[in-house]
Amino acid sequence: MGDHVHVRLSQGMSVSEEGQLIEYSRCRCEATWTKVFDADADGGKPEQQPR
Ligand SMILES: [Zn+2]
Repeated sequence: MGDHVHVRLSQGMSVSEEGQLIEYSRCRCEATWTKVFDADADGGKPEQQPR
């Protein structure tokens, strides 16, 4: 019990006042995550891009 692999189901996205993209997700066990993407990354380092 309590030792399952979390499954992050996307619950949608929104944009914060700082212009950051925030993704919400949750598991069936009600664990939740918020993932913040820094949208102010112009000219910054690219994330892993399969190429
Ligand atoms: Zn879970």
